[in-house]
Amino acid sequence: MFPDHRIEVRAPLRTPDQDIAEFVDSRRDWLQRTLTQLAERPPPLRLALVDGARHPFLGRPVTLRLARGPSEAVLRQDELFITATSPERAAAQLDRWYRTQARQHYEAEIDRHFPFFAARGHARPVLRIKQMKSRWGSLSRRGYINLNLALIRLPMPCLEYVVVHELCHLEQMNHGPQFHALMDQRLPDWRARRQLLNRLPAIELTF
Ligand SMILES: [Zn+2]
Repeated sequence: MFPDHRIEVRAPLRTPDQDIAEFVDSRRDWLQRTLTQLAERPPPLRLALVDGARHPFLGRPVTLRLARGPSEAVLRQDELFITATSPERAAAQLDRWYRTQARQHYEAEIDRHFPFFAARGHARPVLRIKQMKSRWGSLSRRGYINLNLALIRLPMPCLEYVVVHELCHLEQMNHGPQFHALMDQRLPDWRARRQLLNRLPAIELTF
């Protein structure tokens, strides 16, 4: 499912159309729920890469200052100084800055919540930061926790919710009742956090 409501079904070549139709039919409730969630989401927030623009960082605004010189972005109080030499360089610097911040804050959240799972014999998953279009995070069976770079712009409670959700998959790979019971135990207000996450606009950069 894509943000523009297109639905893509992947099936082996030569799968009869009827099988595909039955599969989609069997997922009708889930599709309906997801479409409702998408309808609740406001239109994307378009942010410009210009001096004085306010960009979110952990849910709070920082003001971009396009300055001459800095080879790496520098945050001073609520102002983020980035190079003014070209829009491409400014965009690359901003991206690097968000990635550095993401690594630091995502690792800290994993560290904070991992001891419970360590005590149950799980190995700490290795963090990978990704730009994902349709999901906030995932946990791979090969020991990776993948988290969306876009989370670094969102309020901390949303980041914490996604981290705990993915860590709970160490115990429960599906989203069944036992998974929800574990979520209730680890993060009692996770439903409110999920709702907040689903109602925040996506962000698009413009030049
Ligand atoms: Zn999940």
